[in-house]
Amino acid sequence: MPTKKPVIHCDALVVHCMDYRLQKFLQPWITVRFGYDNFDIISLAGGVHDYEMILKYVQLAVQIHSIETVSLINHEDCRAYGRDGTYKRHRHDLMDAQEKIRALFPRLKVEVFYLHLDGTFEPIS
Ligand SMILES: [Zn+2]
Repeated sequence: MPTKKPVIHCDALVVHCMDYRLQKFLQPWITVRFGYDNFDIISLAGGVHDYEMILKYVQLAVQIHSIETVSLINHEDCRAYGRDGTYKRHRHDLMDAQEKIRALFPRLKVEVFYLHLDGTFEPIS
């Protein structure tokens, strides 16, 4: 008889930019929301800028950890966006990623935030 591996689970996948200026805000925010060890996390330049890459991780986190929530975080003055990184553009990209992920994974809760450099997490809707 093949032995079954136990199911492992965490609540969330958090996606944010690699930018060092965010770390002091991200760590406490994530801990309050999801605890110390209840989330997967990926740190990619530009946050949701590379949607295809994000999607791979969402699929993987759903498949191997049965996540229930995805938190997508873009931020103010993101150098990965360069001059294109207006508030409007970030808002658009976040909502676009949210919509596409929701369409593919209807049971997932997908929340999106714009992180200001003063540490404010602005929910986008
Ligand atoms: Zn950035």
